[in-house]
Amino acid sequence: MLKDQDRIFTNIYGMQDRSLKGAMKRGHWDNTAEIIALGRDTIIERMKASGLRGRGGAGFPTGLKWSFMPKQSDGRPSYLVINADESEPGTCKDREIMRHDPHTLIEGALIASFAMNANTCYIYIRGEYIREREALQAAIDEAYDAGLLGKNAAKSGFDFDLYLHHGAGAYICGEETALIESLEGKKGMPRMKPPFPAMAGLYGCPTTVNNVESIAVVPTILRRGPEWFASFGRPNNVGTKLFAISGHVNNPCVVEEAMSITFEELIEKHCGGIRGGWDNLLAVIPGGSSVPCVRGEKMRDAIMDFDYLRGELGSGLGTAAVIVMDKQTDIVKAIWRLSKFYKHESCGQCTPCREGTGWMMRVMDRLVRGEAELEEIDMLFQVTKQVEGHTICALGDAAAWPIQGLIRNFREEIEDRIKAQKAGRISAAVAAE
Ligand code: NAD
Ligand code: SF4
Repeated sequence: MLKDQDRIFTNIYGMQDRSLKGAMKRGHWDNTAEIIALGRDTIIERMKASGLRGRGGAGFPTGLKWSFMPKQSDGRPSYLVINADESEPGTCKDREIMRHDPHTLIEGALIASFAMNANTCYIYIRGEYIREREALQAAIDEAYDAGLLGKNAAKSGFDFDLYLHHGAGAYICGEETALIESLEGKKGMPRMKPPFPAMAGLYGCPTTVNNVESIAVVPTILRRGPEWFASFGRPNNVGTKLFAISGHVNNPCVVEEAMSITFEELIEKHCGGIRGGWDNLLAVIPGGSSVPCVRGEKMRDAIMDFDYLRGELGSGLGTAAVIVMDKQTDIVKAIWRLSKFYKHESCGQCTPCREGTGWMMRVMDRLVRGEAELEEIDMLFQVTKQVEGHTICALGDAAAWPIQGLIRNFREEIEDRIKAQKAGRISAAVAAE
């Protein structure tokens, strides 16, 4: 278990003063100018050495991403955009940073922007996060008043402006290129990649989009050293990580832990165990709703990191939003609910996603009601394969994977439901309740 002195987010539960004064007492903004004085190349090299992988879900190496930004300006400004449009069902970790520890993010924004030669940074915050944006804006105002932002930010010689932009409730605006479109004042529709934002992002200029947690850990990594951060977890899966655990555990929570902790330790140490005990565990979605669910019995010893969850269990760490479901859960209905969500949030711009999410949802409707034929299970799986990998952005995959996970892991349950319906043991009305 992570020791208290190794926690980056020392106010994640809001027990202490979140203002600048309180943040400084906890060590934030301590000699920030000295970190900046290390220079761009050294900061990027240290971030690479830390092994930090993006905390927004995809796990792309952060230092490497920063290194794609141009070293010399070609006349275009560079931008850092912080993705605070936290909308993945089950995910609520960035919210805690913004409302209780906002200065970790603001200081990280300054250092990261300096490293990428970006004099301007936008934080795009989810529209529903009203209290969080108030807390963040208050912290930004304090930082300006204290000379930590603006001209010669934190006496570093670097001029830096930070703006908070509010989203308006569309899940797709969390996709980085849709977010950029939305920031530009357009409808939030993803762009084709490549070009990646580092080549042509906001207003066609070099842009890096990073998740809130990825940026908020930067000052501590540089203060304590990349080796310190890399000492937690396993190779290629290092650092400390915020886990958001919800569902059928005794104490749902957001907690910072060492990467690669086992699922059992995470749940026992921080959540007071599974509701009704381990024998009552049915399924877990380990990384937010976009990754496939896993049967409970495979999860107990699971290592909570990118490579194990993907390589060994065919799922993923994603945003580390761990959704726990016990045996009282109707798993078919739970996944049906997700397919409704993705259908609703599809931007409709590409055919496999626009039509496919509708198809998948309609077959899921029939499965929930037990009205489908057994052959439709394979047909549904084939439809997910037509959507997966054939769309402009990852929403298509995100809609397909939960259903694939359901069919791979809970086929028997789906078949039983269809058979029970045919035998008149459940009525359609009850099944769809
Ligand atoms: P991605 O793998 O396409 O990209 C990840 C990041 O790496 C992007 O910033 C991208 O620009 C960069 N990148 C990747 N390859 C690159 C290359 N060759 N050159 C330059 N840059 C490159 O994934 P994505 O579509 O950005 O994100 C998908 C993930 O988002 C999913 O895994 C899901 O877990 C997560 N997600 C998170 C939330 C949330 O609320 N945090 C919501 C929805 C989805
Ligand atoms: Fe829009 Fe879906 Fe295509 Fe993404 S995959 S661009 S959400 S239609």
